[in-house]
Amino acid sequence: MFSRSVSRVAQPLKTQARRYATESGSQGGSNTFLYLAGGAAVAGAGYYYFSGSSSVAAKVKEAVPAKPAFTGGDQGFVSLKLADIEIVNHNTKRLRFELPESDMVSGLQIASAILTKYKGPNDEKATLRPYTPISDEGEKGYLDLLIKKYPNGPMSTHIHDLVPGQRLDFKGPLPKYSWAENKHNHIALIAGGTGITPMYQLCRSIFSNPNDKTKVTLVFGNVTEEDILLRRELAELENTYPQRFRAFYVLDKAPKGWQGGSGFISKDLLKTVLPEPKEENIKLFVCGPPGLMKAISGPKVSPKDQGDLSGSLKDLGYTKEQVYKF
Ligand SMILES: Cc1cc2nc3c(=O)[nH]c(=O)nc-3n(C[C@H](O)[C@H](O)[C@H](O)COP(=O)(O)OP(=O)(O)OC[C@H]3O[C@@H](n4cnc5c(N)ncnc54)[C@H](O)[C@@H]3O)c2cc1C
Repeated sequence: MFSRSVSRVAQPLKTQARRYATESGSQGGSNTFLYLAGGAAVAGAGYYYFSGSSSVAAKVKEAVPAKPAFTGGDQGFVSLKLADIEIVNHNTKRLRFELPESDMVSGLQIASAILTKYKGPNDEKATLRPYTPISDEGEKGYLDLLIKKYPNGPMSTHIHDLVPGQRLDFKGPLPKYSWAENKHNHIALIAGGTGITPMYQLCRSIFSNPNDKTKVTLVFGNVTEEDILLRRELAELENTYPQRFRAFYVLDKAPKGWQGGSGFISKDLLKTVLPEPKEENIKLFVCGPPGLMKAISGPKVSPKDQGDLSGSLKDLGYTKEQVYKF
């Protein structure tokens, strides 16, 4: 049941990506219009949906803003019911949470996360952790999280123990890097493990918007091949946009015959694949476990303080302004 709905979730990006690749710029069919409207909505406050009608003009009239589940400000925490679970690999689950109303969208902008809260019976205080949904921001009625379980990690263990029907408290959106189409000419995404989820959110926004021509280079580090999350979705982007999306995979424990990099993400690899520091209007994004952050960019001090730039990116000549730590 869930796996079928999961493939439906992946479908919008897939369909839009394919369509974009085959569309000529001058053909403004109704689907093109829908994508443009979607892109505009992403850049603006909300998402817009069209009820069935044959003419584009009628569709404009019928545009209805979808209600956001998360509105920020003093909204506080919203309890969402877990609807479905998919086992992704030995330590990762994809979990679908129902939004309070079936016609609601999450209300998350690009890029933003949501905060979860849980206080166990023996806990003195609540645990709070951010997560980035992997479902499309335009999906109505639910959001999907991809969660890796860490041994003794209070939140990831709690979420992995949830069963359908149980609830979890969420608050958001937590604004991160505010994206607008063509904000940068070329962006590089350096991710480790579940650090891919905010990167995937950016990719969804860029490649589902035909106006956005940003080039994207992804460097994705994992322990084993099985740990590579969202691999199918990333491969789809590589196949559809070979001129604009390139992905480089690095494994700590590479199997025999592995074509990608092995060991940690090295300075040499970054020097080879990233846009050069002197290239105009580039931005580098980094997200991953503490060890990766330290080695690549230096840690983020707090949600409001990016901290100094250090590590490989500093050594390679990038400036603090060219780097964003999720
Ligand atoms: C913007 C943002 C978005 C995120 N999105 C996701 C997401 O979509 N899915 C997801 O699973 N996680 C995501 N995370 C990480 C998540 O917020 C938690 O840090 C993670 O679930 C661990 O929480 P915990 O309470 O279980 O364990 P903690 O007590 O926080 O950590 C347990 C142990 O795991 C280590 N650890 C913590 N985080 C990581 C990590 N990311 N990689 C490797 N080791 C780690 C800690 O150093 C510690 O040793 C995101 C983090 C940020 C900042």
